[in-house]
Amino acid sequence: MKTVLVLGGGFGGLAAAHELRRRLSHEHRIVLIERRSSFSMGLSNLWVMTGEREHPSQGKRELSALRDKGIEYVNEEILLIFPAEKKVQTSSQLLKGDYIIISLGAELAPQEIDGFQESAYNLYDDAEAFKLQAALRQFRKGRVVILVSRTPFKCPAAPYEAAFLIDDLLRKRGVRSQAEVEVHTPEPYPMPSAGQQVGDALRKMLQERDIAYFPDQNVLKIESSSKTILFELEDARFDLLVGVPPHTAPNVIREAGLVGSTGWIPVDPATLQTRYPGVYAIGDINFIALPNGMPLPKAGVFAEAEATIVAENIAAEVRGEVGSAKFTGEGYCYIDVGGGMAALGSGNFYASPAPHVELKPPSKQFRKEKEEFERSRLDKWL
Ligand SMILES: Cc1cc2nc3c(=O)[nH]c(=O)nc-3n(C[C@H](O)[C@H](O)[C@H](O)COP(=O)(O)OP(=O)(O)OC[C@H]3O[C@@H](n4cnc5c(N)ncnc54)[C@H](O)[C@@H]3O)c2cc1C
Repeated sequence: MKTVLVLGGGFGGLAAAHELRRRLSHEHRIVLIERRSSFSMGLSNLWVMTGEREHPSQGKRELSALRDKGIEYVNEEILLIFPAEKKVQTSSQLLKGDYIIISLGAELAPQEIDGFQESAYNLYDDAEAFKLQAALRQFRKGRVVILVSRTPFKCPAAPYEAAFLIDDLLRKRGVRSQAEVEVHTPEPYPMPSAGQQVGDALRKMLQERDIAYFPDQNVLKIESSSKTILFELEDARFDLLVGVPPHTAPNVIREAGLVGSTGWIPVDPATLQTRYPGVYAIGDINFIALPNGMPLPKAGVFAEAEATIVAENIAAEVRGEVGSAKFTGEGYCYIDVGGGMAALGSGNFYASPAPHVELKPPSKQFRKEKEEFERSRLDKWL
């Protein structure tokens, strides 16, 4: 009998636990440890922001449903990880596994930017996305700024989706001509890990909508009293600020000595194994350098694909075989652009010398597929 400890019940953890349960007979234990009691996808924040989804609770599912699916769900905080011994200390117990899959994601650190919490609606927090919905409803005129604080951040498309959706919302309300919409980011162009062509296409889409774009902007601090963002090069005023906060690896990962020089967990790009045999790191918490030097983007589709590879290889090993599944860097992302439409970016991020990613133009069909992307996983997992 083997025990697999799955740390974190977000996108990657849920996919990993289900893929393992599907492949392993029931004498083997799958234990998922997660401090939250429910799961929802980050992408729903955008629909909460626009009001298309009235409340964040509409995209939420209870994690207790895992127990009906043969997955042990421990609703506790992970306090310590001992990767060499494959042990995990939670708030109430010490768990020992034969394998560990670390899927603890990226932690949001708005406190790292002076003034962020007082000044910005944090787009990456569902409760704040809900408050932003009300703020946008009242917005009549002025400057809306979408600010990316630092790289890397999850879902490289999200700030651009926010800009497109806000533009669309203000047009529908007939107040767009009294408003300016701007994106300020430290990136050299949109979604650089997807390559220059995708970046150019997104820039064109921003231009067509009269959304001003300010790349290479490193925020130093935000002054809430004067509604000013202080950047290294120049300052920017805002009336309504939508922020993507800095991201860090959770403390428990740093304390376990698992992070490398990048601040994230280095893994084998094909197997997702860490330097500890039998210990894997998937999703936002890992760092995978692409052939062009950029990191693999942090996105749910990658967390899920990596989870499947790891589950397949662990299941093979449990059966006494040698696991040979390899993650090949394929990924895709539906990009909301407003008007009930989404574009689709897809391709191979492991391609050399640079990712091979194509951006298909917006359509209602892609937007429907995005909704189905969420629904099918929620229905399967919980
Ligand atoms: C606005 C927005 C839009 C997005 N859109 C898309 C999209 O369209 N497509 C896409 O593929 N991705 C999208 N993403 C990104 C996607 O949500 C993440 O990349 C994905 O959730 C990563 O999965 P993960 O399992 O690595 O981490 P997470 O899903 O963040 O899960 C990590 C889990 O670990 C838990 N945890 C952390 N520390 C502890 C601890 N000490 N003890 C117990 N539990 C702990 C957390 O509570 C969390 O539930 C979007 C994200 C946002 C914010």
